[in-house]
Amino acid sequence: TQRFVDPLSGVGRIVTSYEDARASGERIVGLVSRPVVVQDREDSVVRDHVEGHVEYDDVTFSYLPDRPVVRNLSFTVEAGETVAFVGPTGAGKSTAAKLLLRLYDVDSGSVRVDGVDVRDLSLETLRSNVGYVSQDVFLFDGTVAENVRYGSFDATDEAVEAAARLAEAHAFVENLPDGYDTRVGERGVKLSGGQRQRLAIARAMLQDPAILVLDEATSAVDTETELLIQRGLARLTADRTTLVIAHRLSTVKEADQLLVVDDGRVVERGTHERLLDEDGLYATLWNVQSGASASEEFIAEVVARA
Ligand code: ATP
Repeated sequence: TQRFVDPLSGVGRIVTSYEDARASGERIVGLVSRPVVVQDREDSVVRDHVEGHVEYDDVTFSYLPDRPVVRNLSFTVEAGETVAFVGPTGAGKSTAAKLLLRLYDVDSGSVRVDGVDVRDLSLETLRSNVGYVSQDVFLFDGTVAENVRYGSFDATDEAVEAAARLAEAHAFVENLPDGYDTRVGERGVKLSGGQRQRLAIARAMLQDPAILVLDEATSAVDTETELLIQRGLARLTADRTTLVIAHRLSTVKEADQLLVVDDGRVVERGTHERLLDEDGLYATLWNVQSGASASEEFIAEVVARA
């Protein structure tokens, strides 16, 4: 059925060039996603701007009948705050976040932005106000500047460069053969994972959505690059409602709220400090990842829980 189609993976087929994107006036950060399942309602609510208040109210979702991967999920994020999903692989973190982008519709419950159910918001409102930065950054064949400008087609060269500076991309871009005019993508210069991530951050910076879904990268980068990325991300997420899908706990310590997801359910929630005090799944994951006590017992415990 259609539900087996992940809208994000269809990206390359939807928009293949800057010109196509420009012509169709696409506006989404990171990747273009044209939902294959969801549709605009006839009388959908159009908003130029949203404040960024996000609420999940008893949300349940399954890809396959009777096999929910998100179960009774409820949480609230105030405008400007950061909430991070952490938990074992396959727990449902990415799926939960995709419901905010409305790549899928919930089976029950509701996801609301500024109090409006996302199913009632126009898709254009959602696409232009909810940005998405993922680990699989989509760069099309075109220049660096075009890739950064993508989605904000009227941005000036100065604005592109300012965004690249904030994203810690400017220095490496200047060192490319033709600077911002260097061709990247399949037929251009090959960029490293860390460079691509920073271009994605610059793109999101330029688009400036009130809400950001950030699927954190798992690919290994060197320590210096990691610090640059973290600095770029800190600037990007500041004063913006951010939903982070975290793969490494060290990057979400500062989140206003951590939701520990296990088998589609939130099993613990709170700040980093509070969750360490609770000494539950989060503390176990933290101890393993930080290498503090990756003893046989700890690993056995994590395996047993996951
Ligand atoms: P990770 O940390 O590995 O990214 P996650 O917590 O983000 O994992 P999800 O990617 O949301 O987990 O996956 C949750 C469950 O849903 C998994 O069992 C996965 O196999 C399943 N799943 C994910 N996407 C689809 C899809 N498009 N169709 C069917 N099942 C899916």
